[in-house]
Amino acid sequence: MIPTAPSTDSLWLDTATQANCPSLLADIEADVVIIGGGLAGVSFAWHLLEGGLNPERLVLLESRNIASRASGRNAGFLLADFAEPYGRLKEAMGDGAARLRHLSLRNQEWLKATAAQLEINWQWSPDGVLVAAASAHEEEEYRASVQALTDDGFPVDFLAADALSERLASPNAFGGMFDPAGGGCHPACFVLELAKACMKRGARFFEQSEVIHLDSESVVAQTARGSVRAARLVLAINAYAPLLDDTLASLIAPTRGQMLSFPPVADRVLKPVVYRNHGFEYFRQDMSGRFVFGGFRQTAEALEVGYEETPTSDVQAGLCDFARQLYPQLQALEPEYRWAGTMGFSVDGMPFVGPHPHKDGILLCLGFTGHGFGLASECAKVGAALLLEGSHPDAELFSPRRLL
Ligand SMILES: Cc1cc2nc3c(=O)[nH]c(=O)nc-3n(C[C@H](O)[C@H](O)[C@H](O)COP(=O)(O)OP(=O)(O)OC[C@H]3O[C@@H](n4cnc5c(N)ncnc54)[C@H](O)[C@@H]3O)c2cc1C
Repeated sequence: MIPTAPSTDSLWLDTATQANCPSLLADIEADVVIIGGGLAGVSFAWHLLEGGLNPERLVLLESRNIASRASGRNAGFLLADFAEPYGRLKEAMGDGAARLRHLSLRNQEWLKATAAQLEINWQWSPDGVLVAAASAHEEEEYRASVQALTDDGFPVDFLAADALSERLASPNAFGGMFDPAGGGCHPACFVLELAKACMKRGARFFEQSEVIHLDSESVVAQTARGSVRAARLVLAINAYAPLLDDTLASLIAPTRGQMLSFPPVADRVLKPVVYRNHGFEYFRQDMSGRFVFGGFRQTAEALEVGYEETPTSDVQAGLCDFARQLYPQLQALEPEYRWAGTMGFSVDGMPFVGPHPHKDGILLCLGFTGHGFGLASECAKVGAALLLEGSHPDAELFSPRRLL
């Protein structure tokens, strides 16, 4: 079972409208049952509907509320790159690095197009990503990444410390990179409105319906008050996978991330989203002028694990001091929201999308390692194609059987 320690609402969850799904109170049947109502599960549902699955034969089970875990507790960054600088990723993966970036760019395009199609007010700000170095070594890594990205046909700029500080609206001792492909959004709004659109098409979504047992032989998902028997089952439960299926415990590690946000300030001085110190610090100023800060996990790495969505005083104090040092206009303000969320770190940093390594009838779409908003909907598209058509050109990048 998922632990039920108290959690505080995020800025996003407090400013979005719930999906209001019923709970599962019966034994029902479906063609496909998706477990998990975050971005991965909900976009998986949407892709199955787009692929022609009969909506009435599609069920989604969510343990708490749609988007109430990481998908509603993140920073809302859409990045085309990952914590690993592109240069290093290319050394490790060869052509795979460019394929991953293309996939991530398609993920962004899909989110934008879907938000436009469904008229979702997801507060998208397409102002790019500022990747700021916190050391000379990191700066050199970004210089190499800019070269590698340019060689692969992706337009990005290297910025020396002065130019970077200007875009940051705050001094930074080192340079970095500006990547125009990215920006910030209201993540909970996107997922909740997409879920409502799936239900409007006839898909059956249930909240407060935690799956407590999986019978993989007969493909039955059991909750406390009902069950779903289906031909295929999709596990889109990211960090929570080891709690339901201990055969996945060696693949996924639950890792806590913390954030805070300040009340709106009048001037929007910071337009791009900022990723600093290899992503251990990340921040932005949203469309309403709110500064939103996350990270500092490195200051308490041994404690920032497990499933408790509880902000801790040390990390929060570190975040708050850091924010006020960078932007003195925050010194007179107290944070308005403080929250935590649980990420699912995969053992090799790559998501798992495709047939379960040990169980027939189950497909995985999880392990987004802190980058699910940049990847999950496109990964769900890969998974939906595998489920409906049996193949997808990017499937082997994410195969859960790659580590066997
Ligand atoms: C503080 C923080 C900041 C982040 N910032 C960013 C960012 O800026 N950009 C980015 O790309 N990514 C970011 N991430 C990561 C991103 O939020 C996740 O990778 C993404 O939301 C994963 O989506 P998901 O659907 O796989 O998982 P989740 O959103 O965790 O959804 C999984 C769902 O499964 C449900 N579930 C679990 N077990 C069961 C069960 N047994 N039965 C039924 N339901 C179950 C859960 O309740 C949950 O709703 C951040 C994460 C955190 C915590």
